[in-house]
Amino acid sequence: MTPQRVVVVGAGVTGLSLAHALQEGARVAGAPLSLTVLEASPRIGGHAHSARVDGFLIEAGPNGFLNREPEVMALIESLGLGSRLVEARPEAKRRFILRGGRLCHVPDGPATLLTTPALSWRGKLRLMYEPFAPGPPAGVEETIHEFATRRIGAEAAEMLVDAAVSGISAGDSRRLSVSAQFPMMTEMERDHGSLVKAMFARRSRGQGPSKLLSFDEGMGTLTGALAAQLGDAVQTRTPVRTIERAGSGWRLKVNGGDTLEADHVVLAVAARGTAPLVQDLDPVLASTLHGVSYAGIAVVALGYNVGDIPHALDGYGYLVTRPEEMATLGVVWESSLFPGRAPAGRALLRVMLGGSRRPDIVETPDVGKVDVARQELSRVLGIRKPPRHVSVFTWPAAIAQYTIGHQERRAAITDRLRLHPGLAVCGTSYDGVSFNHAVKSGRLMARQLAQRLWGDEHQPAA
Ligand SMILES: Cc1cc2nc3c(=O)[nH]c(=O)nc-3n(C[C@H](O)[C@H](O)[C@H](O)COP(=O)(O)OP(=O)(O)OC[C@H]3O[C@@H](n4cnc5c(N)ncnc54)[C@H](O)[C@@H]3O)c2cc1C
Repeated sequence: MTPQRVVVVGAGVTGLSLAHALQEGARVAGAPLSLTVLEASPRIGGHAHSARVDGFLIEAGPNGFLNREPEVMALIESLGLGSRLVEARPEAKRRFILRGGRLCHVPDGPATLLTTPALSWRGKLRLMYEPFAPGPPAGVEETIHEFATRRIGAEAAEMLVDAAVSGISAGDSRRLSVSAQFPMMTEMERDHGSLVKAMFARRSRGQGPSKLLSFDEGMGTLTGALAAQLGDAVQTRTPVRTIERAGSGWRLKVNGGDTLEADHVVLAVAARGTAPLVQDLDPVLASTLHGVSYAGIAVVALGYNVGDIPHALDGYGYLVTRPEEMATLGVVWESSLFPGRAPAGRALLRVMLGGSRRPDIVETPDVGKVDVARQELSRVLGIRKPPRHVSVFTWPAAIAQYTIGHQERRAAITDRLRLHPGLAVCGTSYDGVSFNHAVKSGRLMARQLAQRLWGDEHQPAA
């Protein structure tokens, strides 16, 4: 039996999850497979990169994921990483927003809702009216801001939801589609007529809030374990430049002019990075892919002596509301969130800068990013002393923005790809932006490919 030649472009968590699941599928099917994962950069993992420096555990990108996806949890167990999981500390349930220059507790129940200065009394009353809010307008794709204003009122939409959107996706709640970015919200409304009622229904079924998890040595633990299983199949420092047809298959040109032939190619890179690869092959597909926009983020990790921080750091951290006009989207108190992130007597903070509010920040030299991060931290937490450790990571296309029309764009990309059998895309530009989504997207693509290659019986488990 001639081995099927499959090339996966991109060794982020999407591409690695896909390749690992496909390798597993081939093993189960007893089918020969020639699998190659091509990665442009010198290291695997993409955004998921963790490093221990000066005793601090620094995350360049994602720092956690929710335990609500059984498929992701099963993958972790199957890789023998279950014992390496760490749970967010219970105190991390306390989250803050910066409003009017002051840190205000984000309400997480009736008691905190009554006492928090995050909302005015009027805003609180309007939020409590949520179960009686009007239903969605017919035939209109609402933005997150419109949805939130309709359900919980203008003040909570601005102070709580817009800030959360900046924290989760670095985006603008006035531009993002609620059904594309947060489908769970529209489903809760559709099924229960109210978000509050939906939450009570969840609880009555015994489903509490999801737990926030990471690994003892950070999120790179998972990508590292996947890459280790793939061994020599992963080639770093190998950027793909173009893709063209070669008979019934594909020819990829990589850096330095080398070529590689494949029966199936999956592009597990951002739509923005996929577009130039298919420009000559299909300009219409390339232009549709270009329609997916991104927000950039700069991450400034700062390690301090605990005594140099005049704040208890008793929670997850804070999100900055838009009227504060800061470059900081939010600050995660990493060493309060997960155990083992800083040496004894030290604290680690990660300042997230830029997003759609301040796109210029990603262009600023690193020294300027650190200055902005420190100035804004000093305004909020009163830190004056210099940090003991500084790391900066810049992600110009950090998170895909599912703006109004995303689902149509996504469908147009799928339609167009039908013209190119053997060529596929997956990852967080399409069906969800989180780490969990990335793993699920890669594994779904592996199942689809396995089905095509070996039929129904020999598919990697969902
Ligand atoms: C700062 C930041 C914080 C985040 N925090 C969280 C969080 O706390 N929780 C959460 O759930 N999610 C978070 N996310 C989102 C999460 O990181 C992503 O969902 C996930 O890591 C995306 O993985 P991916 O493999 O799809 O893409 P990427 O990680 O971007 O990987 C794509 C890979 O493809 C490679 N590549 C690109 N072009 C080519 C080419 N032409 N040839 C070869 N290789 C190529 C790239 O070098 C890269 O390694 C965060 C993201 C960022 C940026």
